[in-house]
Amino acid sequence: MSTRLIPPGNDMTSPYWDAARAGQFVIQRCDDCGHWLFPPSAHCPACGSKSLTWTEASGDGVIYTFTIAHRPPHPVFRDQCPMAIAVIELAEGPRMMSNVVGCDPTTLAIDTPVRVSFEPIEDSDVVLPVFTPA
Ligand SMILES: [Zn+2]
Repeated sequence: MSTRLIPPGNDMTSPYWDAARAGQFVIQRCDDCGHWLFPPSAHCPACGSKSLTWTEASGDGVIYTFTIAHRPPHPVFRDQCPMAIAVIELAEGPRMMSNVVGCDPTTLAIDTPVRVSFEPIEDSDVVLPVFTPA
C-alpha cells in the first residue's frame, strides 16, 4: 500500500502534476490581466479571460492557517502523525492546502514563511508539492 493517497489527475490538473514530477511548481496565470490562480480553472476569476498559462511560481508563501492532526485522518497517514495540514498563501496570492513537513509541527505559527518542496509518493509516479519552513 502506498504511504499516501494518490491525487487523481485529469485534463485540468495534469500540467500541475507533470511539472511537480519535473521538480517545478506551476500554477495558472491569466495572459490578459496577470492574475495568478489556484485551484485550476477554465477562466480567470478576475477578468473572465479563457487565456491562461501554466507558469512557474516562486514556491514561496506563508502559513495562512493550519491544524495539527494527531490522529491519522486515514490509515495511510498512521506513521506521519502528528502532521501539519495547512493553507498556504502563495507569494503570488492564491491559497492552497498542503502539508508542512521537515519540521516539528508544534513550532509552526500563522505567517511562518514556507517554501515548496517535492515529495515523491512511494509506489506511484506522483510527486506531491509540500512545504517546509523557509
Ligand atoms: Zn484575468
